[in-house]
Amino acid sequence: MSTAPVHTLAILGIGLIGSSLARAALSYDAAEKVRLFDASENVRARAAMLGIGEVSDTLEEAVKDADLIVMCVPVGAMESVAQSIAPFLKTGAIISDVGSVKTSVMESVNPHLPDSAHFIPGHPIAGTEKSGPEAGFASLFQDRWCILTPAEDVDQAALETLTDFWTVIGSTVEIMSPERHDRVLAITSHLPHLIAYNIVGTAADLETVTEGEVVKFSAGGFRDFTRIAASDPIMWRDVFLNNKTAVLEMLGRFNEDLAALQRAIRWGEGEQLQKFFERTRGIRQSIIDAGQDTDKTNFGRDNSEK
Ligand code: NAP
Repeated sequence: MSTAPVHTLAILGIGLIGSSLARAALSYDAAEKVRLFDASENVRARAAMLGIGEVSDTLEEAVKDADLIVMCVPVGAMESVAQSIAPFLKTGAIISDVGSVKTSVMESVNPHLPDSAHFIPGHPIAGTEKSGPEAGFASLFQDRWCILTPAEDVDQAALETLTDFWTVIGSTVEIMSPERHDRVLAITSHLPHLIAYNIVGTAADLETVTEGEVVKFSAGGFRDFTRIAASDPIMWRDVFLNNKTAVLEMLGRFNEDLAALQRAIRWGEGEQLQKFFERTRGIRQSIIDAGQDTDKTNFGRDNSEK
């Protein structure tokens, strides 16, 4: 007899995260059956070739007998997906998502779902800068956090099933309020992406002045920003539009700190700069100690790499 926490899993949106979730559910026995749907016919055809679950031609077919449905679409598309699946949900179905913003998803999805369904928003803290079904891999969620933001009156059995599902595919579940999630992620993920997009944009504008030298000497630190700035444009547009308040608050603090550094440089305050950089080096060490990154030189890049 199967011990999988979920019988039928439906994944809506077969991109990096959706296709990774399908692969992980099958590889680690987290679901007995995986159904997949994507709005794009082209993506559906590509996913069918990958053999990572049963690809459905309609949303109805994908969700009608699913016990767990995970919406893996950009944050701005969650509401319309929820609205479209609502009439076809099985009684007691668990609906979740992987969106990078939680308050807006909770507010926009909740009103469309029937009382007989259990909606528990989620966000795996795992990903890459790649998109599409080919980019996914089964071990993406191994040793990563998955934040769930259930309502206070959540059905405990449904929460347990969803927690088991993420645990079986290798994640550690953390429960948080959606508001707290959005503030924490604004500083740890959303602002770093905005900074990366901005610095790469500024450098691209300067490229006419530097005559190709930005690309040529990019290993000086710039190329690490370019990796982040290569992330999916639609996904990130939706993140900023839907986490406006928290991102603007963190951006305000960031600008103040940047102005202090600017002043220290202008006035030659070396001691202040050094103290600041020593503190940030300590934070890097604590991330390594927590197992959230590798201690290897140059992020573990092969030294023969240019
Ligand atoms: P992705 O690779 O671009 O995949 C998203 C897929 O959803 C695309 O195939 C897209 O099709 C499809 N889609 C869009 N609207 C749809 C709709 N209404 N119905 C069905 N399918 C639809 O993006 P991703 O990186 O997997 O991101 C998916 C979600 O995961 C986002 O909410 C994001 O915030 C979250 N997330 C991402 C990361 C990360 O690192 N990438 C990490 C954690 C969480 P088209 O290409 O045709 O538009």
